Amino acid sequence: MEECIFCKIAKNEIPSKKIYEDNDVLAFLDINPANPGHTLIISKKHFEGIIDADVGVLSKMIQVSKTIAKTIKERLGSDGLNIMQNNGKHAGQLVSHIHFHIIPRFPNDKVVISYPRAQLSENDLNEIQKKLTSAKKEESEDYDFRF
Ligand code: AMP
Ligand code: ZN
Repeated sequence: MEECIFCKIAKNEIPSKKIYEDNDVLAFLDINPANPGHTLIISKKHFEGIIDADVGVLSKMIQVSKTIAKTIKERLGSDGLNIMQNNGKHAGQLVSHIHFHIIPRFPNDKVVISYPRAQLSENDLNEIQKKLTSAKKEESEDYDFRF
């Protein structure tokens, strides 16, 4: 099977503009950035998305995201940033290897991150809450309910 492009980047088989690297995580510049400084944070090991990803590696990815966000703010002068992580084709995931986007934002930039805002009734919200909670309680021991 043809290996994925981010696995190849992780193994230095194809070049990338690296920003940060450790044993588990690599960050490099997006080749088609939304804004200058748009950075991708990937795991070195192949996971498709957040559901199959190892929790320890995910935690490291978040830590690295925080550090890089701070560095981008300080060195590129962005006054805000978006962090995105797409899962699945219908969510816009083009590369099926888990990654976080860090997108620096500047006043009057041309970046658009948009979705519709629905108005749901109290009943609809209750139904969704029920679906997301009732079955899980029995299914999963590590699901922590605080409400
Ligand atoms: P996504 O749509 O969330 O899967 O995002 C994939 C991202 O990977 C896109 O923003 C691409 O521009 C970026 N990308 C694809 N190939 C490369 C590459 N070889 N080097 C850097 N970024 C890449
Ligand atoms: Zn991969």
